[in-house]
Amino acid sequence: MTSESSALVAERQAALRTQLGEDIVLSDAEELVRYCRDWHGDVTSGAVAVLRPRSTEQVAQAVRLCRELGLSIVPQGGNTGLVLGGIPDEEQSQVVLSLERMNKIRQIDSDDFSAVVDAGCILSELKDAIAEKGMFFPLALGAQGTCRIGGNVSTNAGGINVLRYGMTRELIFGLEVVLPDGSIFDGLSTLRKDNRGIDLKQLFIGAEGTLGIITAVSLKLTPYPDQVATALLGLASLDDAIKLFRRARRDCCDLMSAFEFMPPLAFTLAKEAMPDLPIPIAADYPAYVLMEISGCGLVDIDDLMGRFLESVMEDGLVLDGTIAASQSQARNLWLIREGMNEGQAKRGMHLRTDVSVKLSELAAFVADAEAAVEAAVTGAICVSYGHVGDGNVHLNVLPAEGATADERIEQIYKAKVAINGVLDRYQGSISAEHGIGRLKRADFEARLSPVRRQLLTSLKHAIDPDLVMNPGCQLNFSANS
Ligand SMILES: Cc1cc2nc3c(=O)[nH]c(=O)nc-3n(C[C@H](O)[C@H](O)[C@H](O)COP(=O)(O)OP(=O)(O)OC[C@H]3O[C@@H](n4cnc5c(N)ncnc54)[C@H](O)[C@@H]3O)c2cc1C
Repeated sequence: MTSESSALVAERQAALRTQLGEDIVLSDAEELVRYCRDWHGDVTSGAVAVLRPRSTEQVAQAVRLCRELGLSIVPQGGNTGLVLGGIPDEEQSQVVLSLERMNKIRQIDSDDFSAVVDAGCILSELKDAIAEKGMFFPLALGAQGTCRIGGNVSTNAGGINVLRYGMTRELIFGLEVVLPDGSIFDGLSTLRKDNRGIDLKQLFIGAEGTLGIITAVSLKLTPYPDQVATALLGLASLDDAIKLFRRARRDCCDLMSAFEFMPPLAFTLAKEAMPDLPIPIAADYPAYVLMEISGCGLVDIDDLMGRFLESVMEDGLVLDGTIAASQSQARNLWLIREGMNEGQAKRGMHLRTDVSVKLSELAAFVADAEAAVEAAVTGAICVSYGHVGDGNVHLNVLPAEGATADERIEQIYKAKVAINGVLDRYQGSISAEHGIGRLKRADFEARLSPVRRQLLTSLKHAIDPDLVMNPGCQLNFSANS
């Protein structure tokens, strides 16, 4: 930074402190680091300041002031996003606006099957509070102890329960949003049906903070599923896993709430992260499925799981399996799924993808994409797993053993190009659930049709003409104006 630009930053920090109050503004370089580093620690940037308002009105005031000062705003929830959407890329002109202090549960209404919460509520905390009232909010993901509901809505998060309950978009009734001019859009209704024209809340879901700051969310609840059966199954192939998924949907009356696919390498990776984790099944089947059926009331979920597994084992579709006999055993099965992520992280920088294709083409896509990676990068290891019931696979690539940091970067790039090439042939999505952020912007832009680009650009300029909100995220809107 030149002395001229440092003086400008200091001047802006002083204006923020004076007008918003010392309590709201962090500007000490050390304090800023955790807000400016991504989850994996691959990227660390900087910001003029971090703003931590306590109310919607304070968010609105901060937005108005940032506009006046020529600062743009990067909203942030739990900073668990995986595509660099929530950390700034311009340390001299951007502030992070963290929702972490806006974490009140405004109401839970069990009769209405709804709740209204501040956007900064941590997902697992709001789920626990809702569970205490006998109700359930189905969004579930590995980062739920840290991510915040405003971030979940802004990324339209998926997670393990999508196949039964849908993405975040389908789990909410309404939103309160501070718009780029500082006005407040009050769309916090809990009406189940409301067809009064265009549903404006949809604009902000999945917008990754590019159109406004979500300050509160009204949630759609369901009865708490107090019966849960969890099974880990060994199969002959991914193709058989997809056949099993189709059969489970029909035979289990759509009560299946999770269906995760894992390769045998999952156990090695999970053990590398959690050496004491029990693995209750032989680790040499070609494919594994972690499956959950859940319900409440008069259904008998254990009986349903038992009868289902008996029939699919008799037919040879499932080769081996274990059903969790207690909550702690079920938790251990899920820890294998979570541990495999940590195990990959422990192996150093690697390619993480989040792609989707049609379910009927998933097995062929994975085979083609893995072959393309092997041809492009000698010695690389593919780890394909994920929420396959949704056609979503994380086809991750661990660089060849012994690769230097530079070689890793090159191999990651080559593997990504190889996977995306195959994905384009299958007309798939480069982002099934994580969003675009800054990480996938170029790949997103390269695949945009002119009409879609124009629509997105017009929308952005209509709502945020001065490009205050999260510039650099999703699209380079200034290049399209
Ligand atoms: C271990 C792990 C497992 C994960 N599993 C899944 C998974 O299964 N499915 C899945 O979809 N994702 C998953 N993720 C990704 C991540 O957790 C989700 O994207 C999550 O929804 C992000 O929430 P957050 O509060 O951390 O948002 P942040 O990372 O803080 O922000 C994400 C984006 O939303 C914007 N934003 C945040 N809050 C607001 C707001 N209030 N108003 C406007 N914009 C806002 C940010 O600017 C940014 O662009 C996982 C991540 C980790 C680390």
